[in-house]
Amino acid sequence: MSRRAVIAGGGLAGLTCAKLLVDAGWAVTVVEGLPYLGGRASTFRDADGDWVEQGLHLFIGAYTEFKSLLNSIGVPYDTVVFWMEQLQLQDTEGPAEAIFNINPIRSPLKTLTSVLGNNDYLGPLDKLSLLPFAAPGLLPYDALREQFDNQTVVDWWRKANGDARVMERFVRPFCRGIQFSEPEQFSAFNFLTWIHHLVTHLPSALLAGYRGPRDTLIFQPLARYLKERGAVIRTGVKLEEILHEPATGGAAGLGKLKGFGLQGGERLDADVYVAALPVWNLVPLVPEPLRADPFFASLADLPVAPAISVQLWFDQEVVTHERFVLVGHSEACVYQDQSRNAYPTSQGSRVSFIVSPADVLQFESDEALVARVLESFRKVVPAARDAQVRKSVVLKHPKHLVRPLPGAMSRRPAQATPVPNFFLAGDWTQQPFFGSQEGAVRGGKACAEAILGRYPSAM
Ligand SMILES: Cc1cc2nc3c(=O)[nH]c(=O)nc-3n(C[C@H](O)[C@H](O)[C@H](O)COP(=O)(O)OP(=O)(O)OC[C@H]3O[C@@H](n4cnc5c(N)ncnc54)[C@H](O)[C@@H]3O)c2cc1C
Repeated sequence: MSRRAVIAGGGLAGLTCAKLLVDAGWAVTVVEGLPYLGGRASTFRDADGDWVEQGLHLFIGAYTEFKSLLNSIGVPYDTVVFWMEQLQLQDTEGPAEAIFNINPIRSPLKTLTSVLGNNDYLGPLDKLSLLPFAAPGLLPYDALREQFDNQTVVDWWRKANGDARVMERFVRPFCRGIQFSEPEQFSAFNFLTWIHHLVTHLPSALLAGYRGPRDTLIFQPLARYLKERGAVIRTGVKLEEILHEPATGGAAGLGKLKGFGLQGGERLDADVYVAALPVWNLVPLVPEPLRADPFFASLADLPVAPAISVQLWFDQEVVTHERFVLVGHSEACVYQDQSRNAYPTSQGSRVSFIVSPADVLQFESDEALVARVLESFRKVVPAARDAQVRKSVVLKHPKHLVRPLPGAMSRRPAQATPVPNFFLAGDWTQQPFFGSQEGAVRGGKACAEAILGRYPSAM
């Protein structure tokens, strides 16, 4: 009989782990608390039948493991994403806006002229002041961690005499947009790993958007792949209790797990148990006898950030492109009109916004948040001033990402716990990427490798 693994959490990390175990001949069961797969990267249909996403997601060419995962389930990544030619910067305080070509391979001349141009937005000196900041991104990963994980982006910027205008027009919206955190709460190491991964994966380091809902493009094909190979996937089923058996007969160690208790009283038994839940969902489920152990105690110390997504449907077309737009001096710091590729609509623009910092804003009403987003959007997109919002969705996630404070990325736990048959998977476990889809895939892969390292035979 094959070895059995039960995985709680059907996000990218849990599903990647499941895929690799199934490939190795294991019998795998995945239980996911939501009615659909995909977790924080998921998309789902609301009561009107419209697609809604947990939040605006971009895909980076440097996501090598994510691309391999998609290819390995027979879904070429180029069918999932489209590569962006341009990135747009705007500022609610004006003046002007800038459009940078970001595809130096396909259009090198346009890229160069866009960098040399756009001087109303960032002057030549502003741009030159950015150059020395790219240099640390060239350092090896461990050297980056050693030198930069003890300071925030703001500390680092100040020491390097960074320009205040560049901070507000580019760095702050970037920090808010990618990790929902202010640069004052953002490790310079985490920030520079973005540059590091882009630089080390040239020439594929491009930005991409999704060609459709991630549910149909990624999660349904992943589920199909797993089921065709014997895996059981149960959605709408929550892990409620992690059942632990202490070491017996005077043996050293923390004992082992003996089951996953599900909502409704059902119990699942397996040889190996994987928690692929976000760390904030896992912490309250850690069995009492394990809580004092330093490995498990440290999980509760990982800082967590909230996130807010606002999605607006307009009665007319207000944006005529699908670029990602970073907006300075605004809490609606990133947006993308998704009505062409991702979620075609019969009428008008459908725009997805990240609203950050969410720490305070999460306590505002949905109406106030929509009004706040609209006010900012209308300042930078004149066509939106005459348009009406025909539908809005506000998703507030009080806990949605490990906050990238100095030291937090380095403190992420290993996938193998001190309990021999208990493993962790997630973007918040130790792996070289920031909290991201790639980080989740890498966390899931590292988890499967840890399991297969400890149990080399599938029988
Ligand atoms: C608003 C937003 C925008 C983002 N933008 C980007 C982006 O542009 N690019 C990028 O690369 N990344 C982005 N990310 C990050 C990315 O979505 C995550 O890093 C990634 O999806 C995490 O995957 P995971 O499997 O580690 O965790 P999750 O996706 O959180 O999966 C964990 C799963 O466990 C389930 N679960 C929780 N508790 C239980 C329980 N008790 N029982 C059973 N199941 C349970 C959850 O429902 C969830 O499905 C964004 C995230 C958010 C929130």
